Amino acid sequence: MTKQFPCVACGLCCRNLDETIYADLRLPDGTCMYYDADRKLCSVYDARPLKCRIDDYYAFYLENEMDIEHYYEMNIEACKNMMLLFEDYDSYTKILVKMNQID
Ligand code: SF4
Ligand code: SF4
Repeated sequence: MTKQFPCVACGLCCRNLDETIYADLRLPDGTCMYYDADRKLCSVYDARPLKCRIDDYYAFYLENEMDIEHYYEMNIEACKNMMLLFEDYDSYTKILVKMNQID
């Protein structure tokens, strides 16, 4: 299993925020107010909130609840499901490739 989360920077998670958890960041169209659509990047990456930091969130809340591999698997599934939902097959392929490369 991966030892580093295989994010492919598709931006789907930042463009489709949950209405409750991300209510403080979410614009009416579901995009984060800090998402830079031109560069396809978080404009506050170094200062992004804990809920946007996969590894830091795990260390803070979940380290004693589950192992990191299981946590990554859950998040990867969420990424893949979002990619399929929005028909982003290019990113779907990229994340599969990246998963295999960093095992
Ligand atoms: S949906 Fe997953 S792969 Fe895409 S940017 Fe978000 S964390 Fe990265
Ligand atoms: S703060 Fe950055 S990482 Fe978090 S949802 Fe917004 S754009 Fe994405």
